[in-house]
Amino acid sequence: MKIAVAKGDGIGPEIMDAVLKIFDANGVGLQYDFVEMGKWVFDKGYSNGMTPQAQQTIEELGILFKGPMETPKGKGVKSVNVTARKTWNTYANKRVFQTLHGVDTVFSKAGIKIDVTIVRENIEDTYGGIEHMLTHDVALSRRFITRPGSAQVIRYAFEMARQKGARRITCGHKANIMKLTDGLFLEVFYEIAKEYPELNADDKIVDDLAMQLVIRPDVFDVVVLTNLQGDIVSDLCAGLVGGLGFAPSANIGDHISIFEAVHGTAPDIAGKNIANPTALLLSGLGMLRHLGFTENAAVIENALLYTLEQGTRTGDFGDRSKPALNTTEFAEAIIANF
Ligand code: NAD
Repeated sequence: MKIAVAKGDGIGPEIMDAVLKIFDANGVGLQYDFVEMGKWVFDKGYSNGMTPQAQQTIEELGILFKGPMETPKGKGVKSVNVTARKTWNTYANKRVFQTLHGVDTVFSKAGIKIDVTIVRENIEDTYGGIEHMLTHDVALSRRFITRPGSAQVIRYAFEMARQKGARRITCGHKANIMKLTDGLFLEVFYEIAKEYPELNADDKIVDDLAMQLVIRPDVFDVVVLTNLQGDIVSDLCAGLVGGLGFAPSANIGDHISIFEAVHGTAPDIAGKNIANPTALLLSGLGMLRHLGFTENAAVIENALLYTLEQGTRTGDFGDRSKPALNTTEFAEAIIANF
């Protein structure tokens, strides 16, 4: 099976090479078609950050494994990340946050185990970028929420929760204030909930949800939210399990899906071979499971968990009194634990 791979900018090539090395060492039956996407492609004059050949390859293969990408600042260019999600209608952004042994957090120290999946609507809401100056002093932004757009992401969340064997699915919203937009999202949530009687469906106002996630993250299972609220709540959850170095992400569409880490290009540490490849590896494991490579995913995941439990670390986490490995050495430590 062949997938498209874009290494990305900044630390992207370093962490992608580390992850592909781990896949190859485990004999994952994937071939890679490397495509041209990212900042250097903007610099070549393509205003959406990808070449027509890259777009064609991704559309043919249906799966894109991507490193983080930088959008040049200034007018006339669009974020390659947002463009990719919109072009291919990857309407559901799934992020899994789990306690990892060896990654100390206030919760792991208290013996509280976290396993929360956030499903964020990925296309609508204020991300349409429809905003303008009404007067010199008044800026206006429009927010759109549609019934079909809400239904496709909410249905995905329920299906995923059922497959995962989840007990509870929660809708985060602000329908008490945004009665029409968030009200519509919440209405669709409860309509679809009727088809999944085995799941305990409930809802939380997003500010209360944020507080409860911080106090008792272990009582949540699957949470589905609109785009902007989902963006904020998912970064909050990344913090609960140890930070952006441990936050994977999948952008799911009906024809094309994109797997990437939540973090960015980390320009402050790029080119030094010290970045933590774990988030991209966890994203890659989600991709392997999505493609049916479940055995490879299980072996690599066990090796990763054992490596973390041993206290093996890159410079951004773990016991600072222990020496940190570089990106390549960290990948080799995982391979040694297969
Ligand atoms: P960032 O996530 O790149 O970095 C934030 C901090 O976290 C930095 O200190 C960085 O060193 C650290 N960090 C991030 N990933 C790390 C890793 N794997 N290992 C160790 N440390 C890590 O966020 P930023 O600085 O706000 O953004 C930098 C660029 O990335 C921007 O151009 C932004 O647009 C882009 N970005 C891209 C994506 C994407 O491609 N999906 C996502 C977010 C940001």
